[in-house]
Amino acid sequence: MASQQTADRKYVYDFTEGNKDLKDLLGGKGANLAEMTNLGLPVPPGFTITTEACQAYLATGARPAGLAEEITAHLGTLEEAMGRRLGDPADPLLVSVRSGAKFSMPGMMETVLNVGLNDSSVEGLARQAGGNHRFAWDSYRRLIQMFGKTVCDVPGEEFEHALEECKRAKGTTSDLDLDADDLRALVGTYKKIFVKHTGREFPQQPLEQLELAINAVFESWNAERAVLYRRQERIPADLGTAVNVCSMVFGNLGPDSGTGVAFTRDPASGAQGIYGDYLANAQGEDVVAGIRNTVPLQQLAELNKPAYDELLAIMARLEEHYRDLCDIEFTIERGKLWMLQTRVGKRTAAAAFVIAAQLVDEGLIDLDEALHRVNGDQLAQLMFPRFRLTDELKPMASGIGASPGAAVGKVVFDSQRAVELANARDAVILVRRETHPDDLPGMVAARGILTSRGGKTSHAAVVARGMGKTCVCGADALDVNVPERRFTVDGQTVNEGDVVSIDGTTGRIYLGEVPVWPSEVVRYFEGELAPEHSDDPLVVAVHRIMSHADARRRLGIRANADTGADAARARRFGAEGVGLCRTEHMFLGDRRELVERLILAATDADRQAALAELLPLQRSDFAEIFRAMDGQPVTVRLIDPPLHEFLPSLEELAVHVAVAHERGEDAARDEQLLSAVRRMHEQNPMLGLRGVRLGLVIPGLFAMQVRAIVEAAVECAKAGGDPKPEIMVPLVGAVQELETVRAEAEKIIADVTREQSVEVLIGTMIEVPRAALTAGQIAEAAEFFSFGTNDLTQMAWGFSRDDVEGAFFWRYLELGIFGISPFESIDADGVGRLVRIAAEEGRAARPGLKLGVCGEHGGDPESVHFFHSVGLDYVSCSPFRVPVARLEAGRAVLSSAGSDSR
Ligand code: ADP
Ligand code: MG
Ligand code: MG
Repeated sequence: MASQQTADRKYVYDFTEGNKDLKDLLGGKGANLAEMTNLGLPVPPGFTITTEACQAYLATGARPAGLAEEITAHLGTLEEAMGRRLGDPADPLLVSVRSGAKFSMPGMMETVLNVGLNDSSVEGLARQAGGNHRFAWDSYRRLIQMFGKTVCDVPGEEFEHALEECKRAKGTTSDLDLDADDLRALVGTYKKIFVKHTGREFPQQPLEQLELAINAVFESWNAERAVLYRRQERIPADLGTAVNVCSMVFGNLGPDSGTGVAFTRDPASGAQGIYGDYLANAQGEDVVAGIRNTVPLQQLAELNKPAYDELLAIMARLEEHYRDLCDIEFTIERGKLWMLQTRVGKRTAAAAFVIAAQLVDEGLIDLDEALHRVNGDQLAQLMFPRFRLTDELKPMASGIGASPGAAVGKVVFDSQRAVELANARDAVILVRRETHPDDLPGMVAARGILTSRGGKTSHAAVVARGMGKTCVCGADALDVNVPERRFTVDGQTVNEGDVVSIDGTTGRIYLGEVPVWPSEVVRYFEGELAPEHSDDPLVVAVHRIMSHADARRRLGIRANADTGADAARARRFGAEGVGLCRTEHMFLGDRRELVERLILAATDADRQAALAELLPLQRSDFAEIFRAMDGQPVTVRLIDPPLHEFLPSLEELAVHVAVAHERGEDAARDEQLLSAVRRMHEQNPMLGLRGVRLGLVIPGLFAMQVRAIVEAAVECAKAGGDPKPEIMVPLVGAVQELETVRAEAEKIIADVTREQSVEVLIGTMIEVPRAALTAGQIAEAAEFFSFGTNDLTQMAWGFSRDDVEGAFFWRYLELGIFGISPFESIDADGVGRLVRIAAEEGRAARPGLKLGVCGEHGGDPESVHFFHSVGLDYVSCSPFRVPVARLEAGRAVLSSAGSDSR
């Protein structure tokens, strides 16, 4: 090898030196070019300049010592191997200069082809190609165009216009009709455009072209679009990009040449087969640029059978080698196939499952690997209802899918209008340039949110995700005109009241109402589609991988469910119990009046009477849930919210009272309520009279609930059922609180279970930091802990979710203070530390203490991995997230065994 190392670092690797595992150093493209080279596949020779060289260049603004010499040496080796010199006027070697970071990134400089051409080597190239002048000048004009645009920031449209003009003058629409003279003239025009924008002539020195192109690739790492993309995708900013210098092969040498792209399976559905596009007599970019219509790859079989067969054989080989779907780029030069790129291909969520299962069948991977290759976010995507798309249906624009779902509604342009229409039972889509905290009511009222600016961490995206609301943001093709209540896109105008459909997964926006379909995967979870009889490969794949996740996971999965129906659904989705049954909804609706009586009770007797009426209602609520979850634990949380939340608002009551007075009507009850509301007003209700504190100050309240729970359990047990009630006391901060509640509860349990024994556990939520910090003491009085990570997060950070998500989270995300909202994924360092401490000290004090989590973190993939690592017994989440939690709990076992989780 001619590589000479003047610095102690090696900055340049020949394609023969690298391999696919060197992505950090060689970027994805370079690592895979090396891999293919070493597999013996036909890759044009070349070399890769490392990401470390890029990092050094960006840090100092100059090439690091030794890099120039290494490049020269590698170029020399390449020239020797090819028997040509770069840009040699008689017989030029040409190269492409291609960027390639570890992760593929739009926004970076891509590729300059045909580097080495100039006014004299263009003639040499023509001679080399057997007198094909057309080909040579076509290659030259492409060089000036790509070099101008990507290296020197010349506006690309100028070149495109000139090309269009040239075709028009010739009376054609196809570039193939342009002959050598036309293209020579076009080169002249291109050079003028180049001079106009750069103030200099197009560089004629091949080595200068190469140097400038390499520097431009380095610099493109910090291009604005690349920086934005990295921020959105949370790709570290300091990786840098590699640069690949690859000898040129030519797909534009005539009808027996061409270029194409292919996938080894369908990246949309995962189906096996040949998927790709081919374009004869063309160079790389043409396929994707859509300048001419490509043909399906299968037609290559008719054009060039041997090359086609070789390509299929290589694709099969690559799949077997990478054990995954690959996408590839290739060129055919005068009948000979050349491989120019491969990588493990991106795919849709559905394809991820289907392909993983197929590869297991093909013996290429095992089920653990299949489980590792899918994730909960993909599963969640598959569970959202979807648009029923047809071929005719084309999106009018697209943006960033920021919060998934399929939303249809009338377009509105401000928050107030959204609220008005939503109150009139209209479905609305709130369209803004960007949203602000003031837009919150409208965002709540809307079915979906659409913005023309901002990325995945913008206010709109963050708030929408927090609310579980569909959101497409950053659809920059939309020109949103709020004062005139319309937006335009591509000359089309959409006015307030027009209907649009937005897809929060794909980011696509459709004019009009697109019908929505329930997801097949949900129907499978619901038990409506039997996987054994299904011919839907997705259902079969999901079933297999879910079954494996269940077999692998250590964490139990429960659901948060407040009704028998919710509990039954959760069970169908695979829940192994209820981790959180909130009792407060049982105080709403037509029971409000009873609750008001309870609150207004002037005497103990009045209060007891109201509670006595609530008792049978609660009992039947609980019995329903115990029956739905028969044989599985059900954790019932005693009443948690401040009682004034059950009363009408102060404003509403004040108006009622005033109106009644005006009309001379009797308003005694409203007046009573009004004064109760005034009396009970709290500055910080979240930190006020709620949870266990209610139980300790309102005599009989918790006792009634405990009695209802135990009586319901006894009733079920008597009927032959197997209820497993767990009574959970919320908001405990000191063991004495729990002990007091416990003493009273134990008396009631003993009393109610005298004839029919039922085991009842008593435990507590750990959601106040003090409880976590005194978990050893609290465990003395608790048979289980359930971490209420929502409150724990609020209290650990000292902010209330309702107040902060709309107010400043977007800014914190932008600034990187949060990587992700701590309500979405558990803050492992802070809140997670409290969980860890409580788990350890709780178990030390009471071996076998049952530990779980309730709150939405229980259904969040990253958080599930964290809870697994802390050693909790189960997570509990909303019924709909149960499958996600099952899957991630299985994956957590794999990642703690060594492989990384995402
Ligand atoms: P991207 O990252 O955008 O895919 P590439 O570096 O892969 O950019 O280049 C785009 C296309 O340019 C390739 O698919 C290929 O068709 C063409 N190309 C790149 N290098 C060469 C080469 N050495 N010879 C022929 N075509 C090339
Ligand atoms: Mg490519
Ligand atoms: Mg709570």
